[in-house]
Amino acid sequence: MKAAPFAYVRPGTVADVVAELSRDGSKVIAGGQSLVPVLAMRLGRPTQLIDINAVPELGELSRDGGSLRVGAAVRQRQLQREEIAAAVPLARMALPWVGHREIRSRGTVCGSIAHADPSAELPAVAACLGATMVLRTGHGTRQVPAADFFTGALSTAIEPDELLSEVIFPVAKRGEGFGFGEFARRHGDFALAGVAVRVHTSEASVEARLTCFGVSDVPVTVDVSQQLRSALQRTGSDPSRADLLSALADHTPDVAGDVVDTVGDSHASPAYRRQLISALAAREVSRAYVSARLSESEECSR
Ligand SMILES: Cc1cc2nc3c(=O)[nH]c(=O)nc-3n(C[C@H](O)[C@H](O)[C@H](O)COP(=O)(O)OP(=O)(O)OC[C@H]3O[C@@H](n4cnc5c(N)ncnc54)[C@H](O)[C@@H]3O)c2cc1C
Repeated sequence: MKAAPFAYVRPGTVADVVAELSRDGSKVIAGGQSLVPVLAMRLGRPTQLIDINAVPELGELSRDGGSLRVGAAVRQRQLQREEIAAAVPLARMALPWVGHREIRSRGTVCGSIAHADPSAELPAVAACLGATMVLRTGHGTRQVPAADFFTGALSTAIEPDELLSEVIFPVAKRGEGFGFGEFARRHGDFALAGVAVRVHTSEASVEARLTCFGVSDVPVTVDVSQQLRSALQRTGSDPSRADLLSALADHTPDVAGDVVDTVGDSHASPAYRRQLISALAAREVSRAYVSARLSESEECSR
């Protein structure tokens, strides 16, 4: 099938993009990696596509204090390769799981977040890190935290006349460690289930956040600090990764039971997804804890 007819514009400024977006039936096209198949199958029939790739400002990837700002036209592959993006290690861990290199070379970071596929990796990274989405219209700008941004499968807080102009990720701090893992039938396929983890350790405390994706309509973030502390009570605060993994394995089935709310589909039952989440959570929380401890001591010895 071919797309229904549409108009095409390629403005050169953000002001012109948002002016065009105020016309009914308009849609942004960024990398086209999700939108073009939607058009080709006639699942969407926008009357006008607004190509944002000629706006220099939207192609910027920049460091601003404790934040990495990723403009709407920045490709996923840029985040994977450019040195400046190493400051957000969780995104770098997740990106190799997004499709294939050709898709990441065209697909944008903001496009993936705006598309909000429940099995997509970058929305889970944004949720786990507490990223901020910057939304612009002709009337102004608003910032939406990730916790309020994903509202359902393929559904977000973006209004039809709003442009997601950039995503702001917090950069990794001293004492933070990360883990990312997923299970897919073949590499490059969307995940049947996956987890992103952020652990923060200091002499006084240990905190852990787990974001699960592919198991609900939106990425689900839970605080697993208590589960990690309980496991550490059994292993001591400087465990081997294997010991911590086995101690965590006792605590993760409950977490998986709470977060998996999918009814199941032709690829996996809810019970199978719970098993995957449980195993991935134990593995990635232990990985994140060990790297958090390392980052704490590396900074201390500087
Ligand atoms: C074969 C294949 C395999 C894939 N596998 C994976 C995978 O494993 N994991 C994964 O996460 N993704 C996967 N993808 C999707 C890919 O990552 C896309 O790049 C991404 O979902 C969308 O980014 P895009 O820039 O191409 O957006 P587009 O396709 O251009 O747009 C997608 C949607 O977002 C809207 N949009 C885009 N940018 C903005 C903006 N700045 N403001 C407002 N709205 C905007 C568009 O209007 C459209 O509705 C796959 C794609 C293909 C073709």
